[in-house]
Amino acid sequence: MATPTSLPETARRSYWGNVWSTIKSTAVGMGITFRYLWSKPFTVQYPDEKLTTDERYRGIHYLEQDLCICCNACAKACPIDCIEMEATRHGKELEWHQFDLDYQKCMFCELCVYPCPKDCIHMGKEYALVTEDRGTLNMDLLTWQGLTEEQKVRIAEAEAKKAAKKAAKEAAAKKKAEQENREEA
Ligand code: SF4
Ligand code: SF4
Repeated sequence: MATPTSLPETARRSYWGNVWSTIKSTAVGMGITFRYLWSKPFTVQYPDEKLTTDERYRGIHYLEQDLCICCNACAKACPIDCIEMEATRHGKELEWHQFDLDYQKCMFCELCVYPCPKDCIHMGKEYALVTEDRGTLNMDLLTWQGLTEEQKVRIAEAEAKKAAKKAAKEAAAKKKAEQENREEA
């Protein structure tokens, strides 16, 4: 094996250059290692610990269900038809059946948020969408727990009022028809 002294002048210089370069880069690397050795670690134990997201981060939506009027404006604004909703109207009251958002398609563009007349759909901070079942990515955003007792009373009153109005109208029509028949007779 060739020793440094048996090498030509240029090769010898390159040999000692390489040795010096190795020592220097090792020293620089170890310097960085020692600089961070005693500092607080940057890693977090996810999912037990989570980093806080930026104020403008666009994560999983959240819906203020009690404010939503089922106007479909958010669904119409979505460029890839991610949102589907269904509710039965009882006068002013809504009986919700569905408010789904499909995160297999959603691109977190926020276009559904701007047209909402009630400002009740928002981009949240939650980002964990890892799953083994794609079906779970079609998420139900409903926080609706069914009609409240007051809503049920209001609906019953409104329906009773409507039925009474209809009966009165029918009775008036019947009375009018009887009167016309009597006049013809
Ligand atoms: S964030 Fe964009 S893609 Fe997702 S539901 Fe809203 S409009 Fe559709
Ligand atoms: S635009 Fe707003 S109020 Fe209308 S359905 Fe969507 S979330 Fe509800």
